[in-house]
Amino acid sequence: MKHKSWISTVFSFASQCRGKIILSVLCAIISVAAGLIPYWSVYQIITLFIGGSPVMAEVWKWCWLGLRAYAIRFLLYGISTSLSHISAYTILENIRLALARRLMKAPLGTVMGESVGKLKNVLVDRVETIELPLAHMIPECIANLLLPVAVFLYLVWIDWRMALAMLATIPFVLIAFAVMMKDFNKLYAAYMESSNYVNSVIVEYVEGIEVIKAFNQSSSSYEKFAKAVQSFKDYTLKWYQSSWKVMNFVSAVLPSTFLGTLPIGMYLYRSGSLTPQDLTMCLILSLGIVGPLMNFTTYVNETKAIAYAVHDVDELLHGEELPDTGKPVEVCSKDIQLQDVSFSYTLKGTVGKENGKQVLSHINLTIPEGKFTALVGPSGGGKSTIARLIARFWDVGGGKITIGGVDIRNMPLSQLADIVSFVTQDNFLFNCSIKENIRLGNPDAADEEVYAAAKAACCDEFIRKLDHGYDTMAGDAGNRLSGGEKQRISIARMILKNAPVVILDEATAFTDQENEEKIQQSIAALTKGKTLLVIAHRLSTIKNANQIVVLKDGQVENVGTHQQLLEEDSLYRDMWEAHTGAQNWSAGSGKGGD
Ligand code: ADP
Repeated sequence: MKHKSWISTVFSFASQCRGKIILSVLCAIISVAAGLIPYWSVYQIITLFIGGSPVMAEVWKWCWLGLRAYAIRFLLYGISTSLSHISAYTILENIRLALARRLMKAPLGTVMGESVGKLKNVLVDRVETIELPLAHMIPECIANLLLPVAVFLYLVWIDWRMALAMLATIPFVLIAFAVMMKDFNKLYAAYMESSNYVNSVIVEYVEGIEVIKAFNQSSSSYEKFAKAVQSFKDYTLKWYQSSWKVMNFVSAVLPSTFLGTLPIGMYLYRSGSLTPQDLTMCLILSLGIVGPLMNFTTYVNETKAIAYAVHDVDELLHGEELPDTGKPVEVCSKDIQLQDVSFSYTLKGTVGKENGKQVLSHINLTIPEGKFTALVGPSGGGKSTIARLIARFWDVGGGKITIGGVDIRNMPLSQLADIVSFVTQDNFLFNCSIKENIRLGNPDAADEEVYAAAKAACCDEFIRKLDHGYDTMAGDAGNRLSGGEKQRISIARMILKNAPVVILDEATAFTDQENEEKIQQSIAALTKGKTLLVIAHRLSTIKNANQIVVLKDGQVENVGTHQQLLEEDSLYRDMWEAHTGAQNWSAGSGKGGD
């Protein structure tokens, strides 16, 4: 990956606000120039007084000029800051949109493998750290840099010796700064690492609070949390302590421009080569540059913060991307074929052939159109992986998967998403009304169609019992809905989507007996006439499948109907016996489900 500087990365997101940035810079420059005029006015007034017979009208004239220039300075500074804020927020918006687009293009499996905390941290917090410095640096940096330069040139114009005298303390400051900056990069990197660690420990602590409490582990978990927070405090304090002496030296010496200008100015005045008004002016001006110079030192930290944030953003932006042809292709039939498919997860959960253990090896399988195929086998055999590969969460490592003879890699992702409905056990509801949650399956569907889908999925009845019926917000209802109810809502969504291929992954894994029957009914409504692939955990639900595929250790062990497999396949027979045994046991013990 080629690393660009953070400035070019930031400005690559600024295309639509370039005009505003330039205007902001221009306003800042004119504001600085206007800021010098009051000094010029004071100079003129001093000259009038020292001349001995000041005419009040003249004094007023200069006062007015200074006052107006002062007002213009702040007006332009305000305009410049507003424009720079608009630009900064536009850049932030563009970065966030680019990140979101990027997440859509990344392999779904990889995105889901990332922790929510990390993604949120980059998309929200990291991007946010760019705003403040960016919005202020554009006008303030220019002002704080230009003002001292302009004052210096002005002093040169008055008397070059006084200009040099003003710089007398600068070499000391530079040396101190160089000492302080010597290890700055290393220290800042360690600081970021320590801060990231604290972040992750805090997220872990909060996310795991249920488990921590359930196992009464609060004291040991708290200890880890407290240790991380304390070591972060110790580290930052140590860093500040190591640099405060130099910082204080810089803060003391940098503003002390009088150290140079006062003795040299007096000497020049005494020797008659500097008029009193020039002397006064030089002293005033040398004080005027202190503030801007001091401000400048704080930018060192802020540029570093931006550089780190941009680095994180860049890493996400240049992550792995699923190739997408973008050109829709004609898909005549909906039968799915896996031809010599191999796959392994890389250590980070991303796609790869060499890395990690091979999860699927040389799988050949046909899932015929309009038929019901079930995948069974011991846990960890690769059933879910096959389902995810068909939905293109990742690309296969070897071989190919086709739908209607077309390699799914040659289909645009949006076309594949139209063809395949994937019902997982994770039934995510967005925080909008339940009606809109179902309508996500087909945004053009009329209300009546939404209700019909809900009826078919057996969820109409309980939705109507909610406080606001279909208009209940899913967030409000979320806690009151059972896992099975949420599942039925997501099945209604899929019914509305009406995709020709349906994949069900453990869709019936954790429900009670009553929900189970309703879910079976809604699944039947969802899958009528579709190419159906079910990852089965309850063998009783799939015994009528047209074909059952027994998968073990990433290989197809057998394919057949329930009856054929019972006769031919010992693994299937064992699984069936275990299943019916469990069912009998659970019926005998009076408990529902397995
Ligand atoms: P099944 O659905 O048959 O239980 P899976 O397809 O879930 O099996 O898993 C097959 C193998 O792949 C297992 O060894 C599992 O540990 C591994 N695996 C599954 N998902 C991931 C992942 N995201 N990253 C790394 N390994 C994974």
